[in-house]
Amino acid sequence: MIPFVDLKAQYRSIKDEVDAAVLGVIERCEFTLGSEVAAFEKEFAAYCQVEHGIGVNTGTSALHLALLAAGVGAGDEVITVPFTFVATVSAIDYTGAKPVFVDIDPKTFTMDPNALEAAITDKTKAIIPVHLYGQTADMDPILEIARKHGLVVIEDACQAHGAEYKGRRAGSMGDMGCFSFYPGKNLGAYGEGGMVTTNSPEFTKTIRMLRDWGAEKKYQHVLKGFNFRLEGIQGAVLRVKLKYLEAWTEARRTAAAHYDRLLAGSGVPTPYVRPDVRHVYHIYAVRTQHRQTWQDALLAQGIQSGIHYPTPVHLLPAFADLGYRAGQFPHAEKAASEVLSLPMFPELTQAQCEQVAQAVRALAAPAEQAVDAAAVSAA
Ligand SMILES: *Cc1c(COP(=O)(O)O)cnc(C)c1O
Repeated sequence: MIPFVDLKAQYRSIKDEVDAAVLGVIERCEFTLGSEVAAFEKEFAAYCQVEHGIGVNTGTSALHLALLAAGVGAGDEVITVPFTFVATVSAIDYTGAKPVFVDIDPKTFTMDPNALEAAITDKTKAIIPVHLYGQTADMDPILEIARKHGLVVIEDACQAHGAEYKGRRAGSMGDMGCFSFYPGKNLGAYGEGGMVTTNSPEFTKTIRMLRDWGAEKKYQHVLKGFNFRLEGIQGAVLRVKLKYLEAWTEARRTAAAHYDRLLAGSGVPTPYVRPDVRHVYHIYAVRTQHRQTWQDALLAQGIQSGIHYPTPVHLLPAFADLGYRAGQFPHAEKAASEVLSLPMFPELTQAQCEQVAQAVRALAAPAEQAVDAAAVSAA
């Protein structure tokens, strides 16, 4: 059996350190926020090349509070992409603002900067590019358009811990960056977690208040806030794991390089990587028009796979009220119908990559022959 992700293998490799860190929090009874969270905020901010990190309970809350800190609310519009996890769009919805979509670049699966300007209206307040699968969006043109129109840029970096764009870290390029520490993410808590990264002391102050009931000091509630605090145990676990993140990221990149090499010449489209980025391979997705067949066949051979994501957000029933129709974002819709995520985690071995790639190649071969036969008969 080759799992899609293997959290147990990673725990085994750091068990003693994690166990001691968790017990320490319990012994000190620092269950929410506290010294481990404060230290982790500093360390993760430094890792992201920013001044400030504000720990929160989930990546969704990070996005929600970043939007509120930017002053986004009812009557405003926020531009993002439909090919993302639903949370990006839900966070916009929570503020009362209207999510507005632009299509993705079909090669990178991230926001197409060329489609951005046409979506801007006098109600637009912010833009959320999503660094999907661990590859940053094309940030320079996005930031330039945002500057021209006076818009706030919030990076959805929930899949992109340590990713880089022209040498700049994910979460350091926009006004704010939002990270998730959901267990399956590249840096995962042993529970839920999230963080906002920023260089702005003002946004930092506002988000620190909003995550803890809008309080400036205890019982002095100056804003209508939330209980979005990061737990002490998660801070302690994340501090241990952060030390290994670079090594784990390199292991993911090595596994991706194995897949690229082993699938070359098979006709299977492998991930396109921009030359100016460091891709951190939260997801390694190939494309196929026979996805269900492939997924079933792989599972029959003991290989798990995933789909990120089968329905673009503009076509989800939950967001029918936005009034979008099929056909409006063709690149997002095509990607959603074709992507198939192969097993990807730092402990994945070369032998496992070989087994997966061999199975995928075998699935691709008959389809290609069918295409060749069709071409011959058409000629
Ligand atoms: C995981 C994820 C989120 C939400 O993070 P949670 O911690 O699960 O709330 C938001 N956006 C993207 C792109 C994600 O992958």
